[in-house]
Formats: sequence, C-alpha cells, structure tokens
Amino acid sequence: MIAFALFLGFVFGSFLNVLIVRIPKEQSIIRPASHCPVCKNRVKWYHNIPVFSYLFLKGRCAYCGVRIPLMYLIVELVSGAIFAVIFMKSPNIFYALCVSVSFALLLALSVIDIKYKEVPDSINLSAFFAGLFAALFYAPMPTFINFINLLEYGKSAFLLAGFFVMLRFILSYALKKESLGEADIIVAATLGALLGSQNGFLAIFVGALLSLIPALVYRKKGINEVAFVPFLSAGGFLVFVFKEHLWFMG
Ligand SMILES: [Zn+2]
Repeated sequence: MIAFALFLGFVFGSFLNVLIVRIPKEQSIIRPASHCPVCKNRVKWYHNIPVFSYLFLKGRCAYCGVRIPLMYLIVELVSGAIFAVIFMKSPNIFYALCVSVSFALLLALSVIDIKYKEVPDSINLSAFFAGLFAALFYAPMPTFINFINLLEYGKSAFLLAGFFVMLRFILSYALKKESLGEADIIVAATLGALLGSQNGFLAIFVGALLSLIPALVYRKKGINEVAFVPFLSAGGFLVFVFKEHLWFMG
C-alpha cells in the first residue's frame, strides 16, 4: 500500500509540475504534450516516468542535454512523500485520496507563490474542494457517505475563512498597507475543511511561526514581502500528521 501511495504521489507530482509551469503562463494543461523548452522535442513516455526518468537522464533533456530544473524532481518526491504519509494515516482510500490531492495542490500553489508571487484561484479552489470532499469519507469504513461530517467541516472552513477576513481587515488597518491576500483566505478555508476548527487554527499558528524565520532573515536584506501560502500549507501538513499527539486534554 505504501509503495502504491508513493508511486501515485510521484505521478501526481509530475502533473503538479505541469500545473506549476503552465498555469502562471495561462497555457492549457492538456495540450500540447510535454516538450523540452529549449529544443522543442516532445518528451517520450519513457522519458517521462516520474522520479526515475529524471535520475536515469541525470536531470538533462534526452535530446539536447539542457539541464532540467531540480524543482521537477523535488516536487515529485515531496508529492510522493505527502501521499505515502497520508495513506498511512487514513481510515480508507477515498479519504486518503482527497486529502493527498488537497495537500499536493497546496504544494503546487506554494511553489507558484514562491516563483511567481501569485496564487492562481483555479489551483487554490481545487485544493479547497478536494479538502471539503474528504470530509464525506471521514469514517472508519467507506460504507456510507458522511454528510453530517461535510456540514461540520464546511462550518470549520467558513469559520477559518471568516477569521482571516477579520485578521486581514485589522492588519491592513494597523500596518496601513494591504496585508494577507485573498488567496490566504481560501487556503485558511482549506485548512478548516481538512483539519476542523481547533486544529485549523493551530495550523495557522504553526504557519505564522514558521513564516517568522524567513521574515526575519529577509527583513535584514530589505525585502518585506514573504509568500505566506507555503507556510500555511506546511503548518497544515504538520498539524495533520501529528494531530493525534497534540491535544492532551480533550
Ligand atoms: Zn531539449
């Protein structure tokens, strides 16, 4: 099962790379087929096997030898790790799939946020709906679809999004500049849908703590803008993985 989840994660990671390269350029994610950006040769299927092809080709195009950015390999590996960890912790495969897809899309969103300083709604909203959909299957056995859970986690999503709207208003007023993007509000909602209110708030707190590190480093270099989506996502994933060990009372 772990090997299966890992492979599925690698394959999905390969798809995430397509999203990362094409969505910010507003290109279709289906056509044309993958090709080398330098020599334009089409990538053959056996050159396109996630992780393995990159290692086999030593990170170079099979035709012209141009370097393929290491980011491709990293995204595939991290996506594989996300799937493997979540499959290990999930009560059933439907829940595991929805949660894995949601976190993996947040990974793509984070990379795009870092690279392009933008956060495409298409990926952000897909991550949210995958997370919300997961609530339907959060039951010990996949014998029935849990609509009560969907309402419960939908409520958490709404609560966290509302909290962020308020926080944005207060921060923007206090700092006298636009703080927290609309994208962050959707990510907060996704965390609510994936984790519930209590753990969702904790995830935001952990994300804020993580974001302090580079914020302090960058401040010295005179850069104020730090992408928040990667830290929120990382906070969410950490809390998801360790949530059973976190609350000692209750
Ligand atoms: Zn090439």
